[in-house]
Amino acid sequence: MLTAIVGISWGDEGWGRMVDLISRDYDVVVRYQGGNNAGHTVINHLGKFILNLIPSGILRPEVVNVMGNGMVIDMKHLVGEIEKLTAAGVKITPDNLKISDRAVICMPYHVLQDCLEEDRLGDAKYGSTRRGIAPVYGDKYLKKVITMGDLFFPEALRKRMEGIVEWKNLFIEKAYGNAKIDLEEEMAWLQKYGDILKPFVCDTGLYLEDALAHGKKIIFEAQLGALRDIDFGINPYTSSSNTIAAYAPIGAGIPRHKLDKVFGIMKAFSSCVGEGPFTVEMFGDEAKALRDAGAEYGAATGRPRRVGAFDAVASRYGVRMQGADELALTKLDVLSYMDKIPVCVAYDVNGERVEDFPRGERLRVAKPIFEYFDGWKCDIGKCRTEEELPKQARAYIAAIEKMVGCPITYVSVGAERDEYIVRKAR
Ligand code: GDP
Ligand code: MG
Repeated sequence: MLTAIVGISWGDEGWGRMVDLISRDYDVVVRYQGGNNAGHTVINHLGKFILNLIPSGILRPEVVNVMGNGMVIDMKHLVGEIEKLTAAGVKITPDNLKISDRAVICMPYHVLQDCLEEDRLGDAKYGSTRRGIAPVYGDKYLKKVITMGDLFFPEALRKRMEGIVEWKNLFIEKAYGNAKIDLEEEMAWLQKYGDILKPFVCDTGLYLEDALAHGKKIIFEAQLGALRDIDFGINPYTSSSNTIAAYAPIGAGIPRHKLDKVFGIMKAFSSCVGEGPFTVEMFGDEAKALRDAGAEYGAATGRPRRVGAFDAVASRYGVRMQGADELALTKLDVLSYMDKIPVCVAYDVNGERVEDFPRGERLRVAKPIFEYFDGWKCDIGKCRTEEELPKQARAYIAAIEKMVGCPITYVSVGAERDEYIVRKAR
């Protein structure tokens, strides 16, 4: 059984905690793309954890966590994450964490290159998290990267690194005018963190084939939502990899398998990190009120997030691109302070009413067309059934469910593990 749990919009849909919740019934959680440029927040009895690289199933001792070939891994960051979790009492061994031998290593010079390029762009910057993700994916397609499996062949690794460093310095030194990167420093970094991580490295595709053959239930998780997909997102303000569910079997190393279910995570309002078009954006006091109510500050970076009303145009597109079968609606409680709740039902693109998510220049100039729903103005954190929710909240859920055309089966009403409602299928 293969299930993907994916974000419907710009990311940070509150998805770390939904995976933690849904992975109760699953045996394996696989991350299939991305690096440590985004963060997922999971809270449980051991504390509050921000996971950048390690799959969210790590907090459940019986779950096996796989980091797939589609990922890019900053080994130093990963070692830090393992140390933090271990210090908090989470047991991490090669039995519950497996790293693909095909996963690409995000090197210190990728981070450097990311920073140099963002600085060069100045005001035109992409809003990168400066963690090396775009350069390392670029190099993957240029076929000039080191994979985790390469760590096992030190002589071949050194030879390959000699060539890569020589090539990389053409950019670092000659194009950016920065000090050269040093082969020995990069090799020492590979050795230091590689030695710690090597025991976790294996052919994860084979592992997953075997797990499936034994009837195990597997969850795929991505970081960032549909609108950050390199092909279908708001290019160039996207991630550098495919975030959508259809890529999951590839990024996990089992391309011959099909997904049984795609579970979309959709927030009751919008948030967006970094640059790029964000049609529903609120500003000033209105934005601050929503940002503070939802604690919308970056989990990985602490940056204040851009926030806005629920965007039915973008979300409907996200549902389509993800191929979502059902949805979890998160952070509904955050809207409890609003008298009237705005929902963007269409865009105005140069005077034309548009309901299909536009791209490029048409998206850049789009203006939101709002409808307003009655607020409920009370605490809904204790509600555990749909019937207990105020009628305005039920109306809000039903309305956006209809707009995006996909059943909402879970509604979360708080950050704690039990603060959610299972909705009956209708
Ligand atoms: P992710 O990357 O999709 O996991 O999302 P974030 O990085 O934004 O983390 C989500 C934040 O929202 C975390 O602080 C969660 O504890 C919190 N959260 C998740 N679900 C809910 C909810 O239903 N209500 C509230 N108030 N907070 C939530
Ligand atoms: Mg996040």
